[in-house]
Amino acid sequence: MKALLIYPETPQTFWSFHWALDFISKKAALPPLGLVTLAAMLPENWDKKIVDLNVEKLTDEDLTWANMIFLSGMNVHTASIHRIVARCKDHKKTVVGGGPVFTLDWESFPEIDHFVLNEAEETLPFFLEDLEKGTLKKLYQCDTYPDISGTPVPRWNLLKLNRYASLSIQYSRGCPFDCEFCSITMLNGRTPRMKTSDRFLKELQCMYDLGWRGDVFIVDDNIAGNRRRLKQDLLPALITWLENRDYPFAFTTEISIDTSDDEELVDLLARANITHVFVGIETPDTESLTECGKRQNCNRDLVGSVRKFQNSGISVSGGFIVGFDHDGPSIFRKQIDFIQKSGIVTAMVGLLNAPLGTKLHKRLATEKRIVKTMSGDNMDGSLNFIPKMDKEILVSGYKKILSTIYAPSFYYKRLRTFVREFKPRISMRKRVSSGEIKALFKALWRCGIRGKEKIPFWGTLVWGLFRQPSKLDVIVRMAVYGFHFRKVAETV
Ligand code: SF4
Repeated sequence: MKALLIYPETPQTFWSFHWALDFISKKAALPPLGLVTLAAMLPENWDKKIVDLNVEKLTDEDLTWANMIFLSGMNVHTASIHRIVARCKDHKKTVVGGGPVFTLDWESFPEIDHFVLNEAEETLPFFLEDLEKGTLKKLYQCDTYPDISGTPVPRWNLLKLNRYASLSIQYSRGCPFDCEFCSITMLNGRTPRMKTSDRFLKELQCMYDLGWRGDVFIVDDNIAGNRRRLKQDLLPALITWLENRDYPFAFTTEISIDTSDDEELVDLLARANITHVFVGIETPDTESLTECGKRQNCNRDLVGSVRKFQNSGISVSGGFIVGFDHDGPSIFRKQIDFIQKSGIVTAMVGLLNAPLGTKLHKRLATEKRIVKTMSGDNMDGSLNFIPKMDKEILVSGYKKILSTIYAPSFYYKRLRTFVREFKPRISMRKRVSSGEIKALFKALWRCGIRGKEKIPFWGTLVWGLFRQPSKLDVIVRMAVYGFHFRKVAETV
């Protein structure tokens, strides 16, 4: 069997880092971890090829070569998926769909032959068994969550590694919280399932042996779902592994804000070279936090929590949402003020949308407020439900937030706040690569000479030179991100 695993094209979004990738001569921020893992789960005697449309083209030769096409993706990939499937059908190929977009809404893709839904550890064996017997069914799905401690090491060697800015790896699935708008708990459950530290380190060692050095994204939606195991098993083992190899990797992950209360955990995260975390802040408005069930964010000094990470050498990017039923017209100013004060340079502000299958979708459907399927790009200014606030006021207030926080004067002011608070662990600083030197010159040219931001860019650089000279690399990196965010904000 010749299996072709295709990952669809991601449109230019906040998370695509499209405009920033050009500075470092990379084609995509992250590889498709789901497909790379699937490749390891398919029979060993199959020939396998991965085509990620974000870093390469899908050729007719690829399609002619394959006996079977495996396709994965998220909501945001819907248009690309339809284009890929049309080409596969022109070549009369059997297409198998799996991954979040199909698990949530497989019926919207009638042209796909078979669906292997939910988590492949549970459903793929039944598909392979039926394939062997010649009795394939349309749907393979389940309502249980597998143990992931035995999931095979992803086949990163099938990727064109040098085209990615970062590699990705998974430690756990599931999140104990129950935010109303979140589809993670529906897809992965509320009981976190973890790999053992041995297993996780085996995967890291595989990346290391392939020659990868630099950034690694731990894709867990909340790495601290099981805090005890994280503190007692993974982090101590990871710290030792990194020390023995002179810190080849710096990690980014996602975490809930309440972990900032646990000083020991924050210290372990920093010592494990987790240099960046994404945190769902959502809103500084307590009523809206209560409305969406974000209980871990309620009754706390959110800026103070962010500071604890920053002061420990962990930068924070944040997710923010407007459009809750309790949001009044003052929410736009409140969000801007909060983002500026927190020093969260990378602030992803989206309009609330209701993913299919979530508690929010069910509530809004009961209230007859759902109008369409969401686009999957929560920064494209679209809404899939009727908001309580006048829609025009909401959308224009949302655009005002974006145009304000990514205006050069606001962005660089926030960057200085962050740099002042950020205290990286000196012993863990990365070596400067030739790619980073090239990126520096591109940044000086595009931000410092040609860009709209030249005055605050040079102002911040000179300020950094005198006040925070050890963090000049951070300033340049964030200037590059700012260039990307501004471009995205301009298109909303
Ligand atoms: S904390 Fe994050 S992953 Fe967990 S339910 Fe809330 S939004 Fe989803």
